Amino acid sequence: MENPKILVVDDTEENVEILNELLGEEYDVLSALDGEFAIEIAHEDSPNLILLDIMMPDPDGFEVCRRLKEDPETENIPIIFITAKTDENSIEKAYEIGGIDYITKPFKPKELMAKVKRELKLQELYRQLELSATTDPLTKLYNRRYFTDTSRQLLNLARREKQRMSLIMLDIDKFKSVNDTYGHKAGDEVIVSLADTILLGKRKSDFACRYGGEEFVVVLPDTTIEGAKELAEKIRENVEKKTIETEGRSIAFTVSIGVSEIDVGKEANIEAGLKRADEALYEAKKGGRNKVAVRNI
Ligand code: GH3
Ligand code: MG
Ligand code: MG
Repeated sequence: MENPKILVVDDTEENVEILNELLGEEYDVLSALDGEFAIEIAHEDSPNLILLDIMMPDPDGFEVCRRLKEDPETENIPIIFITAKTDENSIEKAYEIGGIDYITKPFKPKELMAKVKRELKLQELYRQLELSATTDPLTKLYNRRYFTDTSRQLLNLARREKQRMSLIMLDIDKFKSVNDTYGHKAGDEVIVSLADTILLGKRKSDFACRYGGEEFVVVLPDTTIEGAKELAEKIRENVEKKTIETEGRSIAFTVSIGVSEIDVGKEANIEAGLKRADEALYEAKKGGRNKVAVRNI
């Protein structure tokens, strides 16, 4: 894994050098000698943490912090103030505008290192927490709960942009017999394999989730039902062509897919679209499986 990136901001070059030396052994250190440059680097390099001096020529550290916290792209970067200001009002203000910690100069190197380390550890924990709340551990696709929230936002966006939006629902054929024949572990590998095939086939803006055990849904922004059908057909074919080698056996499987479109102008959420996709999926199953079926609005 890469070293965490720390941005050091101080208008005194000597201070930057000291911090660079101290932090440089364990972290990748970026530095800025003024506030404007600091904001630029924060955008371009997305550091994991910022150590920010307060007393600098315009913009000072408080102003830099405020601007970073105002911007969605940089608002989540934690900021530790490191400053010669020791009055209570400055300390209070530093926390008020979104600083996460406050170190006074002259600082104790070991204390500074301990605070930096603790902050980065917390960030990592938050990241893991967020990941486990939004993704399915087996396939690494989004989970159903996160899908429900996000699909609503995608639909709102489509409405504002007056774009069409479609979705596909996939279900592995006769999956129960895959489990019965090869075991649950091999069944899991089949599920992961389908997730990978979906990820390979979809566009970056398409939003894929594991909807249930062996069921997946992909929301396709800015896509007509014809476009959705094409993607579905491509995935169906790729699944059919693929075999999984596990414990000396090779497993082939197929998938049935239902395709539908959301009535972006009329429907408040994607529930009705999901229902149509589910009906289409049922038709694909009834029609012999390993098929794509479409249900229009
Ligand atoms: P159909 O073609 O009609 O979809 O038949 P099917 O056997 O795929 O459908 P059914 O819904 O009867 O069976 C789904 C099976 O998927 C049953 C369940 O045990 C299995 N399953 C669900 N989640 C998982 C999982 O995470 N891992 C494994 N290995 N199996 C799972
Ligand atoms: Mg099923
Ligand atoms: Mg199934």
